[in-house]
Amino acid sequence: MRLNSKWNRRSFLGSVGMIATTIMAPRKLFSLNGRSAGASAPVKGFGQTGNPFEELGVATVINCEGTMTVLGGSLPHPELEAVMTMAGRHFVSVHDLEVGAGKRIAEMLKLPDGYTALVTSGAAAAIQSGLAGILTGGNEAFIRQLPDLTGMKSEVIIQKSHRNPFDHQLRSTGIKLIEIETVDQLRAAVNERTAMMHFSNYANATGQIKAEEWVKLANQYKIPCMNDAAADTPPVSHLWDYTNMGFDLVTFSGGKAIRGPQCAGLLIGRKELVTNALANNSPNEDTLGRSQKVGKEEIVGMVKALELFLAEDHEALAKEWQGRLEAISREVKKIPGVSTSFFVPDIANHVPHMGIVWDEARISLTPEQASKLLRSSKPSIAMGAGEGRPGLAMNSFMLQPGEDKIVAEQLSRLLREHAA
Ligand SMILES: *Cc1c(COP(=O)(O)O)cnc(C)c1O
Repeated sequence: MRLNSKWNRRSFLGSVGMIATTIMAPRKLFSLNGRSAGASAPVKGFGQTGNPFEELGVATVINCEGTMTVLGGSLPHPELEAVMTMAGRHFVSVHDLEVGAGKRIAEMLKLPDGYTALVTSGAAAAIQSGLAGILTGGNEAFIRQLPDLTGMKSEVIIQKSHRNPFDHQLRSTGIKLIEIETVDQLRAAVNERTAMMHFSNYANATGQIKAEEWVKLANQYKIPCMNDAAADTPPVSHLWDYTNMGFDLVTFSGGKAIRGPQCAGLLIGRKELVTNALANNSPNEDTLGRSQKVGKEEIVGMVKALELFLAEDHEALAKEWQGRLEAISREVKKIPGVSTSFFVPDIANHVPHMGIVWDEARISLTPEQASKLLRSSKPSIAMGAGEGRPGLAMNSFMLQPGEDKIVAEQLSRLLREHAA
């Protein structure tokens, strides 16, 4: 429930924020971490200022919310952009490239024998194509026929608390979701129409049936099972933990904390299922997934992103992110009535977070008002109220160098302005 409302709130804030944003003062955003590194041609006309967003009158945002698709997900490494630029200079069989990239990714992640990976246009696409492949198998007539399920299985079992906006991708294949809560209800729901058992990784704690038991039950009934772990790296080990646990298919976002291409994701799983998923996806025409095109640039970009992500010192990064939060904390705590606390969500955006609360008798501002004012300020700062906690909540892993200082200043100014 909480996560569902969080999603709604986030997408709501996202669209309101986009309308409400104002044009901010020019900032050297793009030169901060050498992002122009891969570009070879000098840019004239559109893009010549180095900030095409501002040229369109759309404010760039300092991101204290994390890897939110409505804010642009994450920022890729310059080295990744360089490899994507190289990919844009040649023609290639996209089908062969998908197979080759999948093989390389399987090696990098040391997946079990018989497993491979597919680069999709995002985790959402991986969910749809993975299920489509299970439904159609290699049957070409079935592939052309989807989402008309005549002759195919037609039900997917899911725990009630695992329902979320992304199960639209499951429903888009034409299947019906069968909601259950207990093991007994699951046993009663399994029948000859059951195509798959779906698991939403973030909801592991809220569902009665946990990941390992879900896999065991699926194996017992010989039903393929999928785990949507889109936002659940870090830790990096999640990239192989769930296939090792026995899930047949696992999905990840490329454009969240992995910092891959924004329009990329991963479907990891058993070779036959992944092959059938690709058969239902672009570049194949007359398929349900043809609208989820993934380009040669994204495919090689995803391979590079994983190489970079695996090589990163994740502990040092977490320390740096915590340090940024503490620097902001020291500043805002100078204001009478303001206090901070630190936490790490168990799953999804599993990185240091900070809660900021204040005595509303001394500072006449609700967290929601503060969030809105920060978003419409110059520069615009995206920082959510709530997360099921009082006050504002923020993380720092999507901040660019120097932005923690701007956040500390702006937030302090805002709170002081409203102090009695
Ligand atoms: C973000 C997310 C998705 C969608 O991922 P994309 O890569 O943006 O397609 C799916 N499921 C969950 C749980 C997510 O958090």
